[in-house]
Amino acid sequence: MISPDEALTRVLNSLDRLGNEQVALRDAAGRFLRTDVAARVTQPPFAVSAMDGYAVHGADVAKAPVSLTQVGEVPAGSRFDGTVPRGACVRIFTGGRLPDETDTVVIQENVTAEGEKILVTEPASPGKNVRLAGADFSQGDRLLKGGRRLTPRDVALAAAMNVDVLLVTRRPTVAILSTGNELALPGGDIGDNQILSSNAFGLAAQVEAWGGIALDLGIAKDTEEDLRAKADLARHADFFVTIGGASVGDHDLIQKVLVQDGLEVDFWKIAQKPGKPLIFGRFGDVPMMGLPGNPVSALVCAQLYLKPALFALQGAADPARANKPMQVISGADLPTNDSPRQDYVRATLSRDEAGRLIALPARTQDSGQLATLARADCLLIRPPHAEPSKQGDTIKALRLT
Ligand code: AMP
Ligand code: MG
Repeated sequence: MISPDEALTRVLNSLDRLGNEQVALRDAAGRFLRTDVAARVTQPPFAVSAMDGYAVHGADVAKAPVSLTQVGEVPAGSRFDGTVPRGACVRIFTGGRLPDETDTVVIQENVTAEGEKILVTEPASPGKNVRLAGADFSQGDRLLKGGRRLTPRDVALAAAMNVDVLLVTRRPTVAILSTGNELALPGGDIGDNQILSSNAFGLAAQVEAWGGIALDLGIAKDTEEDLRAKADLARHADFFVTIGGASVGDHDLIQKVLVQDGLEVDFWKIAQKPGKPLIFGRFGDVPMMGLPGNPVSALVCAQLYLKPALFALQGAADPARANKPMQVISGADLPTNDSPRQDYVRATLSRDEAGRLIALPARTQDSGQLATLARADCLLIRPPHAEPSKQGDTIKALRLT
């Protein structure tokens, strides 16, 4: 058995980033940027008004009331071509380009218009209500860094930078193979002695949420022939995940069969709970993760190891941080962890009156129970042999995503 930290290190060390592709802005959210991206323009490109009002010489409105002469108008998208002498003003609207001589905008709420004249009723300091050229960013600024996973806000920023196509890492295809004679697909009648196959659905959704493309290979029977035939379909994927058959039972065939077909096992068994029997290796050229079949074990292992793996394949700047640890306050006493395995305890999060995150561990932690996993928001991390902890203690946790 190796530690969770070592397991993650070994997974990440064995993976290479995939190739690149160009995507349009519309397809860029959630993708991992390959290179730094610099702004092609300065924003704003010229000084603009931040409000509806009047562009003036700041020196003219240092004191109020003061009367000014309106010499023109400049809506957004146009330019005032005349000159604005001292004592004059130009009607301007939000986003309008500031006439050259002016430096300040008086908001219309502080003005009484009287024909060609306006009466400014409140003083304004020079530069007020003006967004200067380059206040947001300048041409050449490297605003988006390679290795970053693009958020919707990043996509908006790229557009504002006049960048319409981005170089990102290709999305990894992840072949998912469920195994087990007992498994039946949801939605129909299920036969005697059967169990609904749930993991592949959760796993496919996780893969897509983490940037991959899920390829469901269906359910293999617990026979060498069927497992072999279905596993063969994974040879062109970027990553291969099997579910079930990872333990030591008579029908746990994953290692026994796939090793004959070229599986090289890097490690098997991690000192953790749930998810101890996880297998990691390489099936021919394809990195392979053999998840335990218990639904909680499978989905928790995917969170702990598959998510960082997919981030690594996509060239994330720091894939080991795909799951960011956080500090929460325990809402209950926790007993000693009297085992050499790190415990991941399902818990729900809420906030107390001070706004602090309080984690309440689920009463049952059986790795077969999906309902508590679905309800949980995070996993409390209980290191091997952890001392008992008290309600109110601060504990490390990982958010389930
Ligand atoms: P195994 O690791 O194959 O021994 O499976 C452990 C437990 O997980 C058994 O109770 C299986 O029925 C169950 N299981 C295995 N695969 C799945 C799956 N894809 N969906 C739901 N339960 C599963
Ligand atoms: Mg099985």
